[in-house]
Amino acid sequence: MFTASLADGTLINLLQNNYSKEVLERLRNNDSFFCPDCKSPVMLKLGERKIHHFAHYQSANCSIGHEPETADHMAGKKLLYDWLCQQKLNPQVEHYISSIKQRADVFVEWKGWKIAFEYQCSTISPSLLNSRTTSYVQAGYTPVWILSHKKANFKSFSKFQWSFICDFINKHGVLLSLDTNMKSLYVTRPTPIATKQVISSQKRLQLSSTTSLTTCQRVISEVQPIITYKQWLSIKNKNRSMIFRFIDKKKYALFQNLYLAHIPPPCFPVEAGWPVRAMHWIEQPCYMWQLWILLDNIIQKKSDLIFLNDILKNFYKRVQMNHISLRTLPLVKHSKPEDAIEHYVQLLIEVGVLEEAGDYSYKIVRELLYPSHENEALDCDVKMARELIAHT
Ligand SMILES: [Zn+2]
Repeated sequence: MFTASLADGTLINLLQNNYSKEVLERLRNNDSFFCPDCKSPVMLKLGERKIHHFAHYQSANCSIGHEPETADHMAGKKLLYDWLCQQKLNPQVEHYISSIKQRADVFVEWKGWKIAFEYQCSTISPSLLNSRTTSYVQAGYTPVWILSHKKANFKSFSKFQWSFICDFINKHGVLLSLDTNMKSLYVTRPTPIATKQVISSQKRLQLSSTTSLTTCQRVISEVQPIITYKQWLSIKNKNRSMIFRFIDKKKYALFQNLYLAHIPPPCFPVEAGWPVRAMHWIEQPCYMWQLWILLDNIIQKKSDLIFLNDILKNFYKRVQMNHISLRTLPLVKHSKPEDAIEHYVQLLIEVGVLEEAGDYSYKIVRELLYPSHENEALDCDVKMARELIAHT
């Protein structure tokens, strides 16, 4: 940590005033330092390898600074702090919020927002991330969680990494990561293509004196998915041709239901397997959950009229039966899993399967397209992709 109190209560912030090593050595010889939170004595470390910092003695029992801080974590806090100082925003490092007993890595007030930056270098559970976020929000803060770039993988998202997707500026959900060596903030928007696999579009922001928080906000809001329909067709093609690989319990249950409806899995209806907004809420590749929607509501229909409520009810039944699983996204507040379903219903209207019949009710106006073999499926997929592009 960078802050400690002297015996007389004066707060020392090592990131301020550009302290030289000599000055700090003198201070160390003449004074004692104490943790601002637990008040136990801390040592001032003036190493060569890490940035100058304070650390607790091993015996300390502090709720905040007990673990040895990594060089990366300190570098990240310093980078954010220095960057905000350059903008004359008067940030505070290790800002303690007593009402919730949490300490923000860097705090700044900006455009009426009280922003708590958290630079995360170690793995934490989604539930802890959620409870910390909730506490911040309840105390009137806007937490901004930034992952260490070293921890991030932009082709394969772990559960931990998914939990860092946030949407307070970009309503569709982005991952923020910080590279302390390059002094850069990365904004990544993932399009999920399987449980872990994603296609990422990314923008890099150099955190220099010419980049402001306003620039940052704009760039975050602008990051769009880069996936093209051509790319998506090749993904869909793979979904079909490799459908018999890795058959887990979820896939097995889906196959059973497809066979009951006399549909060979590689020839699943053309209408399943298209990207829709908010689909990052669902863990399975989209062809799987969309097939469940088609099976439950259209293929095994009881009447030509269907209701959104029933579609959602059937979807959650599948979730309950563990045929579909949802992601835990504690930082996503502007969308919910139901949005993915509603967007998919919209897609079914666009391709002419459904027609709006009234408020949240739809008429089934045409049969689904069942390709009779894989090559025909590919042709049909291309045609539907064209139709969908025409709608966008
Ligand atoms: Zn302490």
